[in-house]
Amino acid sequence: MKRLTILILLMLLAVVIGAKEWNQYYFKFELLDKAELKNIGRIVSIDNVKGNWVYAYANDDEWKAFQELGYKTRLLPSPASQFSPVMSSSVAQTRLWDSYPTYEIYVSTMNAFATAYPDLCQIVDAGTTIGGRKILLAKISDNVATPEAEPEVLYTGTIHGDETTGFILLLRLIDTLLSGYGSDPRITSLVNNLEIWIGPNTNPDGTYYGGNSTVSGARRYNANGYDLNRNFPNYDGSLNTGAIQTETNLMMNFANNHHFVLAANFHGGAEVVNYPWDYTYTLHPDNNWWINASLVYANSVQANGPSGYFTSVSSNGITNGAAWYVIGGGRQDWMNYSAHCREVTLEISNTKLPAASTLPNYWNYNYNAMLSYLEQANYGIHGVVSDPYGNPLSATISISGHDNAFTTVITDPAKGDFYRFLSPGTYNLTISAAGYPDKVVSNVVVNANTQTPLNITMGELPHYQEISLQPGWNLMSFNINLGSNDFESVFGTELQQIKNCSQTYSPTMAEHFNTLPALQTAKGYWVNNSSANTLSVQGQLLSPTSHSQALVSGWNLVSYLPDSSMAISTALAGIIDRVQEVRSLNGSWTPSLGGSFSTLEPGKAYWIKVSEPCNLVYP
Ligand SMILES: [Zn+2]
Repeated sequence: MKRLTILILLMLLAVVIGAKEWNQYYFKFELLDKAELKNIGRIVSIDNVKGNWVYAYANDDEWKAFQELGYKTRLLPSPASQFSPVMSSSVAQTRLWDSYPTYEIYVSTMNAFATAYPDLCQIVDAGTTIGGRKILLAKISDNVATPEAEPEVLYTGTIHGDETTGFILLLRLIDTLLSGYGSDPRITSLVNNLEIWIGPNTNPDGTYYGGNSTVSGARRYNANGYDLNRNFPNYDGSLNTGAIQTETNLMMNFANNHHFVLAANFHGGAEVVNYPWDYTYTLHPDNNWWINASLVYANSVQANGPSGYFTSVSSNGITNGAAWYVIGGGRQDWMNYSAHCREVTLEISNTKLPAASTLPNYWNYNYNAMLSYLEQANYGIHGVVSDPYGNPLSATISISGHDNAFTTVITDPAKGDFYRFLSPGTYNLTISAAGYPDKVVSNVVVNANTQTPLNITMGELPHYQEISLQPGWNLMSFNINLGSNDFESVFGTELQQIKNCSQTYSPTMAEHFNTLPALQTAKGYWVNNSSANTLSVQGQLLSPTSHSQALVSGWNLVSYLPDSSMAISTALAGIIDRVQEVRSLNGSWTPSLGGSFSTLEPGKAYWIKVSEPCNLVYP
């Protein structure tokens, strides 16, 4: 009885810590119609499609459900069992790059980078997996501890635990970027201009399913038996494979807390650049840009690899994701539609877990391409969105007639910077930020392999106008759009009376005598003040050319709208034929004779006599 209780407790514990035992099935079956794939993809994890043959993985539940479909199926040996892996047991041995590190040596190797290059590299722990392992990322940049307005780019590997080529190549890329900084101009430029994040292994529970000391038991799924690359929320928030796993949440939080603009996720089992979308046959609005960016990678690896390398899916080494096979819940699509990042899926070796001795070859094939793809982040529109004081703003940038809801980009609120990669052309950008009217920036020209800088200021600085009033009567006007137009807040307690041609307001009069309801923009006023006073008001400067004042035949009380003094003949040039006389508080001017004053000044108002009705617009 006691033994049974302990057994039950142990089983419960196993469920709680997620250490459930499960079997991995790797198999192939033949399709009659590719349209069947969409349904099958909801039941098992499709890994590759070659003609009518489909290669797939399943856990126990998935396998049971798939068998009910009645396909003729052949079980295949686990891809991780093809070679018995050479494991390294020291950081130094790992850094020869022809072995696989144990889990502990992997962690030590990552931490050693930060120790050796503290100014260039930080190791960030994105969180702990179900199996208690770390998801580590190296952050590499000049001034690595200081946030800068630079494109944040992300390389990750081995979300499928048994696809280990990227794991080693990304570890080696970290090492090469750090050791080459300052001596290799290409690397130095990348590290200076970008914020580079590299996470070599995002599913260590899968890779080390057989234990921390070997990758020989590596599995595709996480410890719970979930394919993490089918586990991200769909574009509409629905889920593809049930509960979101710990590792998926960690990656989503990590992406949401950063501002990645360009990314790639390294896989194996094929050799191809797979670009969005994976979930739909509808082409991405940036399809041409995607094709070019993908070819940058594929052309390079085909040039540096042996004959036939990167041709397993297409001769040019690239494919639209859905055209190969449709999947839901993939990270690539989520990074695009949810994290506003341009991410591709890189399949870099037909053999998922290649012999360790061949890893240096894959490095030689891919090294130049890995740099070239990152360099794409230097091109396109590099913008900064700020408020009138120069503070960075959180904003969304969309291109009318081009973008849809899943392809807009956003600024990094910390610096206001955004990056919009585009094929060569001329584009109209709409910038939206809370609290500001949308701003359209037209005719932005994008050229190939060129950076287009763009600084955008939302709204305008408020303008301050100071107006000196004398005791007694004054003729005055405002040339700003007053935010608050109640008399008390503008004039204070010195105000005795204010009037225009026909209406009046006095704070001491009974309310029904006050016919002037409020201050109006671009009007002239008489103001009677009890003592000398300087008004100081704030608002947006009016555009003199967009305000027309209708004048009647005879005398008119007009405002003065330009922000600087101007000769009367210049200010009134548009109606000068009709002007008979201009009067200020204590002067007079006529076009033929001139007079006791000759300029009009901001803050003042004037009486103007015209011979016939006309519209006064200041220059
Ligand atoms: Zn994969």
